[in-house]
Amino acid sequence: MAISRAECVALDAADPLKDVRDEFVLPDGTIYLVGNSLGAPPRTAAAAVTRTVEQEWGGRLVGAWNTSGWFDLPLTTGDRLAPLIGAGPGQVAVGDTTSISIVKAVSAALRLRPGRRVVVSDLANFPTDRYVVEGLAEALGGYEIRDVTGVDGLAGALSDEVACVLLSEVDYRTGARHDTAPVTALVQEAGALMIWDLCHSAGAYQVDVSAADFAVGCTYKYLNGGPGSPAFVYVHPRHQAEARPMLTGWHGHAAPFAFEPGFRPADGIRRFTVSTPHVMSFASLNASLDIWERVDLAAVRAKSVALSSIFIELVEELCAPYGLELLSPRDPERRGSQVSFGHPDGYPVMRALIDRGVHGDFRAPDVLRFGFAPLYIRFADAYDAAVILAEVLEKEHWRDGRHGDRLTVT
Ligand SMILES: *Cc1c(COP(=O)(O)O)cnc(C)c1O
Repeated sequence: MAISRAECVALDAADPLKDVRDEFVLPDGTIYLVGNSLGAPPRTAAAAVTRTVEQEWGGRLVGAWNTSGWFDLPLTTGDRLAPLIGAGPGQVAVGDTTSISIVKAVSAALRLRPGRRVVVSDLANFPTDRYVVEGLAEALGGYEIRDVTGVDGLAGALSDEVACVLLSEVDYRTGARHDTAPVTALVQEAGALMIWDLCHSAGAYQVDVSAADFAVGCTYKYLNGGPGSPAFVYVHPRHQAEARPMLTGWHGHAAPFAFEPGFRPADGIRRFTVSTPHVMSFASLNASLDIWERVDLAAVRAKSVALSSIFIELVEELCAPYGLELLSPRDPERRGSQVSFGHPDGYPVMRALIDRGVHGDFRAPDVLRFGFAPLYIRFADAYDAAVILAEVLEKEHWRDGRHGDRLTVT
C-alpha cells in the first residue's frame, strides 16, 4: 500500500490544523468530502444566528441597523474576507450571490471598455457563469460571447474587440487550477479586463487577486459560510473611481438615506452593493471568518496537497481494476483542493458510497468529485474513503437498483 492507516493516523496527530476540526459540527460516521460544495457548519454558527435573532433583531429591532452594524455588513465582512484572496481593505464587497456578482463585475468591465463588444467566456466554467453572461449580452444588445475551454485557445480568442474575460481559477469538474498570473497578464496585454471566479479557490488555499481587474466567488463552499451565504466581488483599486456596475440599488448610492430621485454611485467598493444585506446569513459567515482569521493558509495548502495526493495514490492502487480514470491533474501545483475520477457508472457508484458514509458528489456526465477541506478532513478520512470506494467497486454494491434513480440535487 502507498501508505498505511497507521501512518495516516500519525499524520493526523502531527497536523498543525488538527484542533481546527473540533470547531466544526460533523455527524458521527460521516466522511464529508463535499466541503467544495457546501462547507460544514462552524460550531459557533448556530449561536451567532441565534444572537442575531434574539439580541440584535429581538433586542434592538430596527435600531440594529445602526447599533449592530447591519448596514455596513457587506463592507466590514468584505474587509475580513479580503486577506483570504490577497486583497486589501476597501476592495471587497460581500452580498447577493455569485451569479449576481458576475452581473456586477461583467457589466462594470463592459463600461470600462466602451467600443469593445466581446466577452470571452469559458465552456468548462460552472454553467451559471456562462448563463449570466448570455443574459447580460442579450439584455445589453450588440455583444458577442466568444467561448474558450479553460485557457485553451485563449490567446487566439483575444483581440482589440474583447472587453473582458471571465474564467474560473479552479475547474469545478476536474479541480484543475490555472496559473492565474500569466493568464491575467495575457488578457491585460490585449487591453481587456480579467475577471476571475474564485468559487473553488477561496478557502482552498491563499488566493492572490492583486493583479486581476475583478473577481467574484461564493462563501458557502470552502469558506463554510452556510447554505446561501452571501457572495463577494473584488474590484481592483485602479478601477474603483470609474467602475460602475449596472445594478444600481439604493445601498450603492452615495447618499442612501437622502432618498434622492436619481442614482449617484457611492465612492469606492460600496457602489458594488445593491440593497438590503441578508443579515442572518452574514451571521454564520462571520462565525466562519472568526476561524479563518486564526488559521495559517500555508498550512491549509500544505495539508490540502498532502490529503489529495494520498487519496489519489490510494485510489489508483486499490481501484486499479475497476475502470476509474483520474480527471484531476497529477501535479499538485495544478490542483485545487478537489480530486475527481471518471467512471461510466459514476452516479450509482457515488450513491453506494454515500450509503456507506463517504460523502462525495457527482457531476454530469461521469464525474465523481471528492473535496478535501483541510480545516476538518483528516488523513485517516482520506484513507478510509479510498478503502470504502474500492469495496463498493469490487463488490459492485453500486449495481443495487436503488442507487440508480437521480435525486434533484446530485
Ligand atoms: C458554486 C459556483 C457558483 C454558484 O453560483 P450561485 O450564484 O452562488 O448559485 C457559480 N460559479 C462557480 C464557478 C461555482 O463553483
